[in-house]
Amino acid sequence: MNDCIFCKICNKELSSDIIYEDEYCVCFSDINPQAKTHLLFVPKVHISSISEMEDGHELIVAHLIKIARNVAKDLKLPGYKLHIAVNKEGGQTVFHIHLHLLSHY
Ligand code: AMP
Ligand code: ZN
Repeated sequence: MNDCIFCKICNKELSSDIIYEDEYCVCFSDINPQAKTHLLFVPKVHISSISEMEDGHELIVAHLIKIARNVAKDLKLPGYKLHIAVNKEGGQTVFHIHLHLLSHY
């Protein structure tokens, strides 16, 4: 997906402040934060939406949640919200799956 901004961030074609990366995902700060801490967890594989998941993709989505938990622990966040917008009608604006982490801390 050459025109996908999150693929470009994963491929380092677009800069972002990546704070965690592994074989399967990256984590970086949201460019327009809606909370004191607002991070995005993005799989390196392009999947446009939760509604477009195929067999096996659940492992990738579960990995995003696990890594969000780990990063939150590293940042010593006492609490946070995780959310995924699904489709335009659900508020999704970037069509590459991403997990938001929002915290007041
Ligand atoms: P959503 O509306 O759930 O699809 O979330 C997309 C999020 O991506 C929004 O919160 C945007 O602020 C964020 N965003 C868009 N472009 C960038 C970027 N280049 N770097 C970091 N975050 C971005
Ligand atoms: Zn993509």
